[in-house]
Amino acid sequence: AQERYSSIRDTDCVSADGVRVHLHMNAGLMADLPSLEGSGAEGVGLFRTELQFLVRNKMPKRTELVEIYAQVLDAAQGKRVIFRTLDIGSDKVLPYMKSLDEPNPALGWRAIRVALDRPGVMRMQLQALVRAANGRPLTIMFPFIAQYEEYARARDEVDKVLARERRLGHPVPERIEVGAMLETPSLAYASRRFFEEVEFLSIGGNDLKQFFFAADRENELVRRRYDTLNISFLSFIENIVERCESTGTPLSFCGEDAGRPIEALVLAAIGLRSLSMRPASVGPVKSLLMRYSLKEVRDVIEESKMRGEQSVRQAVMEYLRDNS
Ligand code: PEP
Ligand code: MG
Repeated sequence: AQERYSSIRDTDCVSADGVRVHLHMNAGLMADLPSLEGSGAEGVGLFRTELQFLVRNKMPKRTELVEIYAQVLDAAQGKRVIFRTLDIGSDKVLPYMKSLDEPNPALGWRAIRVALDRPGVMRMQLQALVRAANGRPLTIMFPFIAQYEEYARARDEVDKVLARERRLGHPVPERIEVGAMLETPSLAYASRRFFEEVEFLSIGGNDLKQFFFAADRENELVRRRYDTLNISFLSFIENIVERCESTGTPLSFCGEDAGRPIEALVLAAIGLRSLSMRPASVGPVKSLLMRYSLKEVRDVIEESKMRGEQSVRQAVMEYLRDNS
């Protein structure tokens, strides 16, 4: 399948009406790294660091992590890699950690909540990232931030690790960016100050959607019940886009929907300029985005909303069919 898109692999993704959209890939295992070359992705928009923890039967040591992260950065050859700190709990349970019996794991003690309550592992991980960077630029993203204070505290941990590394005489990254995932509706309504301080945001559409519609992403009975192109959800995302534009906060979308061509086209049409997806999706998404005018798709979306349709999917599909 990659071959079909090899002719556009090294072409920038620009829509028919001249809008540049950046396409990145999601990764987490070493086996994903060759795709950075093969897919045409501009960088790694989401490196799920928990995967390295999940494939082991005991907690990795800091030195092992340094080695892994250094290999990732080497493979990226200067392309940006967004390392998401450990996102465990809920659907991702470490076999060597005591698991809790929570009534609602998806709403429970997970991700940044665990990291802030038991900061040991996060500190080790941050230190490993800084050492792996060995002076190179570094990008860190915290998962599941629900309010400003969680980001501030996590950011503080980064600063402490940097100060410690400096004291020890180790090189620190020449540039470090610290962002947050927007996966809970609450964060979309955080203070303007949050949007000004956070260095970038990435919408975790998988989680955001499950919380927006109150529909468990793991539950077959409900997980496909609500369309991502439902106008309520799109309006909500548009809102986030507008807030980020008003503060100049770089915004990306890294949930699975970014890798579905029609969803990706609609996300670009409502203002997303950066999408991160599974590597095999980069070609198909780029190919579709390059053939259509985002302005026209946006008009189709607006008209569909005007007619009171619940989802814009049908209108967009018809437009694509009539203009293929
Ligand atoms: C998301 O929630 O959309 C996301 C990208 O993170 P994960 O799928 O790993 O929860
Ligand atoms: Mg998530």
